[in-house]
Amino acid sequence: MNFEELAKSEVRSQPVYEPGKPIEAVARELGLDPDSIIKLASNENPLGASPLAVAAAHQALDQAELYPDGGCFALRAKLAEKWGLAPAQFVLGNGSNEIIELLGHVFLKPGDEVVMGNPAFVVYKLVTLLFGAKAVEIPLVNHRHDLDALAAAVTPRTRLVFVPSPNNPTGTANTQAELLAFARRMPDHVITVFDEAYAEYLESIPDMRPLISEGLKVICLRTFSKIYGLAAMRVGYGYASVELANLLNRVRQPFNVNAIAQAAAVAALDDNEFVKRCRTENLSGMRQLATGFTELGLEHVPSVGNFILVRVGEGQKIFAELQQLGIIVRPMRAYGMPEWLRVTVGTIDQNKRLLASLETLITQS
Ligand SMILES: *Cc1c(COP(=O)(O)O)cnc(C)c1O
Repeated sequence: MNFEELAKSEVRSQPVYEPGKPIEAVARELGLDPDSIIKLASNENPLGASPLAVAAAHQALDQAELYPDGGCFALRAKLAEKWGLAPAQFVLGNGSNEIIELLGHVFLKPGDEVVMGNPAFVVYKLVTLLFGAKAVEIPLVNHRHDLDALAAAVTPRTRLVFVPSPNNPTGTANTQAELLAFARRMPDHVITVFDEAYAEYLESIPDMRPLISEGLKVICLRTFSKIYGLAAMRVGYGYASVELANLLNRVRQPFNVNAIAQAAAVAALDDNEFVKRCRTENLSGMRQLATGFTELGLEHVPSVGNFILVRVGEGQKIFAELQQLGIIVRPMRAYGMPEWLRVTVGTIDQNKRLLASLETLITQS
């Protein structure tokens, strides 16, 4: 028997996640100078990381020989203070992606169903399939989650429902009233997972905490990868009832969040200045791109995140041509949108370069 035959069937059939290509990889493959390449492919922060967080990370390196605090005491305390919740209501993860996986460990077995939108963040589906559960995918309507359709897809076998707002890759959001009403109509055997990875970019951020106080089965996921600019650190968290947080904490590795990341995250939570600046800059960059696309005659999906979908025709071709010009974006073929690209909002100069390159490529073809 070979390894493939020995592997679990869920693993054999697991689709491969295609991340945005690192700058160094594109430079190697295309023989470009890495300094000339811009990456607008993974919704990273074009303004860099919170400076307070970077300073704290440097300092934490002085104790690199010690295991991290597996309980994340300081980070939990800081989060509890920020949210007005108890420290025991948090679960920390190696990115919020890990918490999606922890939800699978705790709740999913073969035959279970997980309801999610399509297109939505692909990790929901990957984790679902990895645990032998069935992904029930509900098409978006006008690129937005149709919460009524999501609710209608719930069956006695449903364990999790994923509701990202803003959604990735569409950048669309549901209102606080819609989200609250949705969770309140979920039956008792279903856990609603609100993925708030881009919530900080919203003008008015929905508050899901009332649902937790009401004793409903919800968890909200946040990340330090986006507005705090700490994607390399891999740290995210969930907040929920103590009971749910305890279950998730039971299945994680003892030291799943490294000490450097913990220190950076604690400091980042104090950097309100940085968050505010990123939000403002993102808004003007978003306007710049939306206006630019319209001027080029390209359809786009109005977005409230830090990225935007634009319809370019042959998505895969334009993606490859942009890459030749040193601009990495994300093709949407894997999301069933072959005519579209997802572009992260960059700095004013990066956006300008993207728009100019797009113009050249489109008038050529
Ligand atoms: C980027 C992103 C995350 C965050 O992932 P991390 O593992 O925290 O880096 C979570 N959900 C969505 C929808 C995302 O786009």
